[in-house]
Amino acid sequence: MKSFIRENTYRTTPLGWGNGYVVIPKSSSWHGVEYTSIPVDVHGGLTWSSLGSEFVNDPDCVDGDAWIIGFDICHHGDDINNCSKKYVEAETASLLQQMQELDKFGFAKSQRAVICPHCGEAHSLEPIDSIFVEVEKRTCLKCHKEFYCEVNEQE
Ligand SMILES: [Zn+2]
Repeated sequence: MKSFIRENTYRTTPLGWGNGYVVIPKSSSWHGVEYTSIPVDVHGGLTWSSLGSEFVNDPDCVDGDAWIIGFDICHHGDDINNCSKKYVEAETASLLQQMQELDKFGFAKSQRAVICPHCGEAHSLEPIDSIFVEVEKRTCLKCHKEFYCEVNEQE
């Protein structure tokens, strides 16, 4: 995994310096996971996930089959003072660190049975029947390692 930043080139209204991104390689179980299902804490929350080939900002800067996630500084109240380049760099470094931590656990994508990303054991799970999903940490019943997966949001 690596990170990069991009300066805003469309700054017509007062906004922060630019956006921060993390590149997730195909080998990671977090590759392909929508940003809404990635439990990280970053400025304004994640607002982007796509393949590198669909990265509108600059498609040539990353591998086409890598997965890109990122945040922006276009939220209410963001400006060049509270979202300086230094701030964006720090937030991006924090995001990379959080993703590297999540990568240790792995993410199970299947929605009917959850396959442990460490040992391959299948765990039954209620099918996702809501557009509102939560990401939960689970412990594998076989290898006892922890991983993340999507579940229906609790009432
Ligand atoms: Zn396991």
